[in-house]
Amino acid sequence: MPDSIIADLTALVGADIVVTPDSSNLMRYTRDYAVEGSVEIGVLAIVLPRNVEQVSKTLKYCNEKHVAVQPQGGLTGLAGGAVPTGPCVVLNLERMRAIRELDDVAGTITVEAGVVMEAVQKAADAADLLYPLDLGGRGSCQTGGNLSTNAGGNRVLRYGMARELVLGLEVVLADGTIIHGLRKMIKNNAGYDLRQLFIGSEGTLGIITAAVLRLFPKPRSQCTALCAVADYSSVIALLTRVRSGFASQLSAFEVMWPDFYALSTRGLGRNPPLGEEHGLYVLIETLGPDPQSDQKRFEIVITEALESSVINDAVVAQSQREASDLWSIRDSPAEWKRAGHWPHVSFDVSTSTGQIGELVERIRGALSAKWPQIFTMYFGHVADGNLHLSVRLNEDHDLAHAIEVAVYDVVAEFGGSISAEHGIGTLKREFLHLSRTPDEIALMHTLKRAMDPNGILNPGKVL
Ligand code: ZN
Repeated sequence: MPDSIIADLTALVGADIVVTPDSSNLMRYTRDYAVEGSVEIGVLAIVLPRNVEQVSKTLKYCNEKHVAVQPQGGLTGLAGGAVPTGPCVVLNLERMRAIRELDDVAGTITVEAGVVMEAVQKAADAADLLYPLDLGGRGSCQTGGNLSTNAGGNRVLRYGMARELVLGLEVVLADGTIIHGLRKMIKNNAGYDLRQLFIGSEGTLGIITAAVLRLFPKPRSQCTALCAVADYSSVIALLTRVRSGFASQLSAFEVMWPDFYALSTRGLGRNPPLGEEHGLYVLIETLGPDPQSDQKRFEIVITEALESSVINDAVVAQSQREASDLWSIRDSPAEWKRAGHWPHVSFDVSTSTGQIGELVERIRGALSAKWPQIFTMYFGHVADGNLHLSVRLNEDHDLAHAIEVAVYDVVAEFGGSISAEHGIGTLKREFLHLSRTPDEIALMHTLKRAMDPNGILNPGKVL
């Protein structure tokens, strides 16, 4: 059967599009950043299409033959959503790299699914515009993956998650039907909002092949500060101040607990810019139109917060380099693996912003009651209600599951989400019911059955 699948697909889309799986390529197409799949899982063919018609023909064939399809982008995911879990045709859109159009009047860029995030950012920048979606994997993650997982990142506070940045989509359904929806309008109430079905559904309802993305005016100023505060109520007081002080210019409000701060500074050989005795650390950023007046205003708001003891200490970046140094503390999880602070079991949970401090204390209490020696790190996009936490695993890898159960139990008590921005993939499937009601999950199954009756699209993920 595998031989005939390769022959059939080759006849349909061409020999240069269909790659025979072997030891030279299987390693690459069977893992993401968090999940190492198996090269022996039974990949039947690797299809690397160059256009939407080839995607359509591949899906039509697989649907008729009831062959599972594993959609993939840059394989930087953190939940296993792109990792094959059984025999399948891998469909990776990495060759669909055309930037079809940039419309500076509409403020849009139309790109194919395989265009890497950084390439979209650079194309926007060259037109004096901003593509605001940004995260650590920017150099290799692809637009199709960013949208199918509804990626978040550091500037959600100001510009929203991926789904808020999409005006139109081109999608291929399980049976090969191409849905042409590459529209540029912000307003479109003509019936159901179909694009949102495909954003965040991790390739289980259709394959995104191109998108119209929103662009914004390029900021002229970036002001950055690291602030030390006493406790979580001071974090909220500071957030209230900077929200009113900076209004829509506020672009990041990243909170780091002391365990995270210590590892990300001294633990990685950096000099801590602020002492280690404080209760919490907050990285604040604004993006605005005027370098001089924005920096002045920024320093006034930070100084007032200092004078009224909302913050205990602060360092305001005076150059782009100092700003990057402050950001490198927040971005340090990307360095942990290399520095030997690994393995970890990582979480991406959410609840309302006001509850995050209590959520941390409850999770910390639950974990240390069971495992007194446990080493944890807490950080997050607190203004979005998003908490990341990372738990160091020493030798005992079997602990990972028990730790997950303990953390998600607390999150469920808060009515929070077990996945704020990373998706469900395979890693969080068994916990989905903690964040969704039985009726919500039943409705998801109804949609899945209607749109993919043969269950070929990314089986074993999400639901
Ligand atoms: Zn994040």
